[in-house]
Amino acid sequence: MTRNAPRTAGKPAREKLIDPYLRPITYLRLSVTDRCDFRCTYCMAEEMTFLPKRDLLTLEELDRMASAFIGLGVSKLRITGGEPLVRRGILGFFQAMKRHLDSGALRELTLTTNGSQLARFAEGLHAAGMRRVNVSLDTLRPDKFAGITRRGRLEQVLEGIDAALKAGLRVKLNTVAIKGFNEDELFEITAFCAEKGLDLTFIEVMPMGDMDDALRIGQFWPLTELRARLAERYRLTPLAEQSGGPARYVRLEETGQKIGFIQPLSHNFCESCNRVRMTCTGELYTCLGQNGMSDLKAPLRAHPNDDAPLREAIRAAIALKPRGHDFDYSRQKVRGQVKRHMSHTGG
Ligand code: SAM
Ligand code: SF4
Repeated sequence: MTRNAPRTAGKPAREKLIDPYLRPITYLRLSVTDRCDFRCTYCMAEEMTFLPKRDLLTLEELDRMASAFIGLGVSKLRITGGEPLVRRGILGFFQAMKRHLDSGALRELTLTTNGSQLARFAEGLHAAGMRRVNVSLDTLRPDKFAGITRRGRLEQVLEGIDAALKAGLRVKLNTVAIKGFNEDELFEITAFCAEKGLDLTFIEVMPMGDMDDALRIGQFWPLTELRARLAERYRLTPLAEQSGGPARYVRLEETGQKIGFIQPLSHNFCESCNRVRMTCTGELYTCLGQNGMSDLKAPLRAHPNDDAPLREAIRAAIALKPRGHDFDYSRQKVRGQVKRHMSHTGG
């Protein structure tokens, strides 16, 4: 079928998703829960009210939703949250997604996790076809870890990372760069990753949720500064590699490590953006930095035995994908603030 051919209702749509700026949409980040066993200070409030269970997509609905996107050309699926591994029955979802890996429709099934449950799940995830996971870890000091996560135990995460490696998963550490918090651990974290063979990506703090502006601006450690600090000790070679996302990469010549820098506040990746995000309630956000969303739970639930309306709703949502976002920390003011927490959109 060509792109302009008329569509027949109910007929499987083979056409790929292309947004109004001609960007192919091939990457879905799917949040499977808003709950978490941690309360990272930059992500959640201390007291959180989580969504009632009936609002969440069931595991079967998550499967239908993900499969609809895969049928429309999404070839990379990242599961996130909240903490995805605290969702009951989640391994069954991963096992079910394996059919899309086996058919070749899905190129990669992956996960962003805080690592607390990895020791239990690592082998099962590998058996379900997963080959890489991202683990979020901002400090290697147990007391600081307990402080920033408000309730996490570092030891448990380190055990999770070891279990993942042992199961054959490649692990990338995601470290949020926070001024006055982990500045002094830059080289320690880098060396830890070199020693364990982990990839490493630094992320700038984003103005999400309802933290007050002063706190967020105070925490902001620009990655340009972090990168300059790294260059004091290592020779950095910029890599051309582009993921369609906000990450830029360098190689540390002394260790051969690849280090990523995610600057979500810069606009320079929007033109190649290939991704969309879905919340655990079936809201599709086509841009991390904008509030516009489309509810896909309604067409999903209204037609339990027919995915055609869902596919049409997905196309309609993609047709609204904005050109880019508008974060700006300049002049100590946060514009383009996004009201929701990262745990809502899944990061
Ligand atoms: N719970 C999982 C985890 O922590 O990896 C997955 C969800 S978490 C919301 C996804 C990522 O978002 C984590 O790497 C976390 O550090 C990051 N994140 C959360 N709030 C952020 C913020 N305000 N700025 C930058 N990154 C943030
Ligand atoms: Fe939970 Fe991840 Fe948010 Fe931390 S960053 S509170 S682990 S969802």
